[in-house]
Amino acid sequence: MSPIELNKRQDAILQIVKENGPITGEHIAERLGLTRATLRPDLAILTMAGFLDARPRVGYFYAGKKSTAAFTESMLNLKVKDFQSVPVVVSEEMTIYEAIIHMFSEDVGTLFVVDKNEMLQGVLSRKDLLRSSIGTQDLNKMPVHIIMTRMPNIAYCLKSDSLVNTAKVLIEREIDSVPVVEETEQGLIITGRLTKTSITRAFISLAETHDL
Ligand code: ADP
Repeated sequence: MSPIELNKRQDAILQIVKENGPITGEHIAERLGLTRATLRPDLAILTMAGFLDARPRVGYFYAGKKSTAAFTESMLNLKVKDFQSVPVVVSEEMTIYEAIIHMFSEDVGTLFVVDKNEMLQGVLSRKDLLRSSIGTQDLNKMPVHIIMTRMPNIAYCLKSDSLVNTAKVLIEREIDSVPVVEETEQGLIITGRLTKTSITRAFISLAETHDL
């Protein structure tokens, strides 16, 4: 389940209930110039998601903050696929010099390295590139596969993985990102990346959904 996003009408309903609750469905509909029937699905969603409480013959209340249990549940339901970003991939034959330029021009902190068949072979971090550039090696000649962290030591995730588990991997391995991959017989195909920024974005969306 992705975090609940309210549409404009649901936002308007919440606002009315916040200001006027308890208020009946009829009255909410009247204020919006709509029929009660039109509002039924929105009211159901808002009630199910815990934003509103309904009491028979009294009407709708604003439920305020959701329970800790609901918060925990929506956190566990966050999936990698909803927060992943676009991966930046380079060939293992690219020189270290070119990789440094590429990292700047693509504005990322990690490059993923693939072989001729586009299968994941390695990872290059900012410090991997910095470290190699303070040595005496010829950055214009040396390919990145010499310095990259390589398979099978690459931590990765699947798009269906939970965000919380992937966040744990980032912390335990002390890394900034993991490639999101599809596992095939030929190897791992990179379809995205999950970074510390992705996790921060998820954290904010969780807070917003729960009206914190
Ligand atoms: P930096 O090195 O710039 O601090 P990271 O903390 O992401 O950035 O990387 C630390 C080390 O871990 C680097 O040597 C990098 O190659 C390696 N690394 C980064 N991401 C992964 C990953 N997903 N799997 C395995 N190793 C990784």
